[in-house]
Amino acid sequence: MIKKEKSFIMEQEDKKVREQLSKIKYKILVMSGKGGVGKSTVAVNIAIGLSLQDFMVGLLDVDLHGPNIPKMLGARDLRLSRKPDGKIGAIKYSPNLKFLSIEPLLPSEDSAVIWRGPLKHSAIRQFIGDIDWGELDYLIIDAPPGTGDEPLTVAKTIPDAYVVIVTTPQEVSLIDVKKSIRFCQKTKMRILGIVENMSGFICPHCGKPIDLFKKGGGEKLAQELGLRFLGRIPIDPRVVDTGDTGRPFIAAYPESPTAKAFEELIRKIISATEEMKRDILEERFMRIAIPINTPSKIEIDPEKFDLFAIYDIENNKILVKDVVKRTENQNLIDFLKEQVVTHVLLFDPPKNLADHLSQNEIRVLVTDTSTESPDNLIEEYLKEKQSH
Ligand code: ADP
Repeated sequence: MIKKEKSFIMEQEDKKVREQLSKIKYKILVMSGKGGVGKSTVAVNIAIGLSLQDFMVGLLDVDLHGPNIPKMLGARDLRLSRKPDGKIGAIKYSPNLKFLSIEPLLPSEDSAVIWRGPLKHSAIRQFIGDIDWGELDYLIIDAPPGTGDEPLTVAKTIPDAYVVIVTTPQEVSLIDVKKSIRFCQKTKMRILGIVENMSGFICPHCGKPIDLFKKGGGEKLAQELGLRFLGRIPIDPRVVDTGDTGRPFIAAYPESPTAKAFEELIRKIISATEEMKRDILEERFMRIAIPINTPSKIEIDPEKFDLFAIYDIENNKILVKDVVKRTENQNLIDFLKEQVVTHVLLFDPPKNLADHLSQNEIRVLVTDTSTESPDNLIEEYLKEKQSH
């Protein structure tokens, strides 16, 4: 009885989260392998820069231990407000930018809160489901460094979030980037690209660049791993001051080389998000799920669609294959959406199932053989697709 009640509440929460997310066009998680590389600075300046270009933007700080977005925005006094319809809206920073962080919800700015994993998970979900963000073009999410509970919750709650990885040029930072990349592969979040922050210093006297922490490591790594390089942000000592005094740099010093680099980064982010969306529409990127009953046999009975082989395919090549089990209470569509599946490959699917999938923007591929292994079916499908 109690179990039933709980799952009903969870279903309602899931519904609220889904409703909110459906109103947000692009969700971008800003990650870094380690602290101090300028991840929050980059997240804030991306959000401000996009809002200055008339996009509707949300900035969500999911760092529950050391939230610093309100400070960087100079918006520590702003509080959540209830809207006339009773909903609680995210905090309005400017007509185009809203934000949310745990800080305004704590009794005092020095409050130390001990967050256990599950509590973090539900707090972050509430930030999305219970707060009215309205229609947004971009939601920028600033997570604490590393690959802990917070980015994991984002990956589970917002499976279609794209990831921007921030690094500095030193070798040690680059090693940590690889961990972030592995995390994204595991959680199946797609990486938008890598940003190299604190990359060179423009001498204020002679205007020449000086490479304080080397340069170009982020770009080389991006090339090696086949990821987009989103750009270099030079060091400017005024970034520290603007961060500490709550004046986002890009707005405070728009003519500086560092602000120009942020602008270029924003341009790349806009074009990369659009390109990735087009890749899905035009099937250059596909995530195909095949129901299976053993690793080498496809399942043909829709009642038994519990285990799935999922293939990430880019430009007709298989990048990753994974086997994922649907949990008992989860309905099929929710499961496929959570896995951000673009296509399912089925043997002789009943019409109502195929229609239901299509209505939910999941394309259906049909095979007329139930004896081939899922790997062979995918290979054949790709061969056929290529020959067209
Ligand atoms: P993280 O979120 O990765 O921990 P922060 O954004 O808090 O890092 O940045 C760490 C420190 O580095 C801050 O004092 C910030 O002002 C400074 N900083 C970040 N990027 C730059 C930059 N390009 N030039 C100079 N200082 C920077």
